[in-house]
Amino acid sequence: MAIQTDFLAIHGGKKIKTAPFGTGKRFGLEEAKELLEALEQDTLFYHFGTKVKTFLQHFNALYGIQHSVAASSGTAAIHVALGAAGITAGDEVITSPITDQGTVVGILYQNAIPVFADLEPYSFNLDPDSIERMITPKTKAIIAVHLAGTPCRMDQIMAIANKHGLIVIEDCAQSYLAKQNGRLTGTIGHFGCFSTNDFKHISTGDGGMVAVNHQDEEVFMRAHAFADKNYSRFDSSVTRKISSLAPNYRMSELQGAVGIAQLKKLPGLCARRTELGEMLTKMIEGIQGILPPDVPANSVSTYWFYMFRLDLDLLTCSREEFSEALREEGIPNQAGYIAEVLYKQPLFSNRSAYPGTEYPFSLTEQTYEAGSCPEAEKILETAIKLPMSEFFTNQDMEETGRAIVKVAAYYKK
Ligand SMILES: *Cc1c(COP(=O)(O)O)cnc(C)c1O
Repeated sequence: MAIQTDFLAIHGGKKIKTAPFGTGKRFGLEEAKELLEALEQDTLFYHFGTKVKTFLQHFNALYGIQHSVAASSGTAAIHVALGAAGITAGDEVITSPITDQGTVVGILYQNAIPVFADLEPYSFNLDPDSIERMITPKTKAIIAVHLAGTPCRMDQIMAIANKHGLIVIEDCAQSYLAKQNGRLTGTIGHFGCFSTNDFKHISTGDGGMVAVNHQDEEVFMRAHAFADKNYSRFDSSVTRKISSLAPNYRMSELQGAVGIAQLKKLPGLCARRTELGEMLTKMIEGIQGILPPDVPANSVSTYWFYMFRLDLDLLTCSREEFSEALREEGIPNQAGYIAEVLYKQPLFSNRSAYPGTEYPFSLTEQTYEAGSCPEAEKILETAIKLPMSEFFTNQDMEETGRAIVKVAAYYKK
């Protein structure tokens, strides 16, 4: 691409992007029809109606899996997987320090201990070597977060897990239909957890799914019960033999109904996001000061958002100046993702998840120190995050790429 060194819009030059980004409607008559049918059942309870059951059947067919469980959120889905895996007080669960809070909520509610491993610099996902260094005799599980739609290195993670007898839970809240070596994320680990909150690839308002891939059918039964107060509802009867604690994370028929219609749109919108993301990477590759995201070999990202890093040693500006200049070119963006790595939250640094106590951290030697995952901290200090939408046009991506190249050329050292 020709290097442009024109005046930046922030200095009074011509803006790159003047036409608005493409938009569209996520919900239509398809959802309305399903909702009406749900109401006509005269029950909105998943066990009596057909919508949640049909939603899960379609989900299973799309993913090529045998078993899944519905939940009330992605956070709930992860908690269900942990509960079904038997994660309990004092167990350690290794995960990523750059993720949604929902990844660790279930760990803490089981009185288990989140342990944060460091990340790879450009995939923004768990570094398998770092995972291996964090394993102790108390480690029971790994939650692999496929950030921004890009798959973790699952072959290596599964090999580590098998070697140490660990459960692998894939957090697929951001990675619908992402693939590695021809396999879908969420079908590789023992569990795959999904969110249908209003900001994900598909929405049911709120909701979640757990793909239960564990060989043992009993684990599916446990997952199913764990989302429903440990009531076992498998036929017309219900067993309420409660021997351990479980929450109520049920999905309602209204969510299931919307989910049926949303799932039909999923393959098309994921394919489009992949196309747009790959288009942008091609445009910003090899540009001085710009470090595009890295998608592992034989993998497909479905870009929930698009994040790249700046090499500030090769630019004369700060990350904030770059972000501002890009915004003035007409490209909305955010300097960084979450403000801080998770282990810098007071909850961790004060070692107190339950007010007035040291639970669950009194069960562990684990401490949470700034600097413990240096690469993850560097990612958050140098990243620029762009929104992504299946409704964006090729022109939107082309102008985004040109604006990044223009700003990088201006601030080039
Ligand atoms: C959104 C998200 C969650 C939580 O999902 P909710 O439905 O909001 O509870 C968990 N993990 C990741 C990576 C997410 O992006």
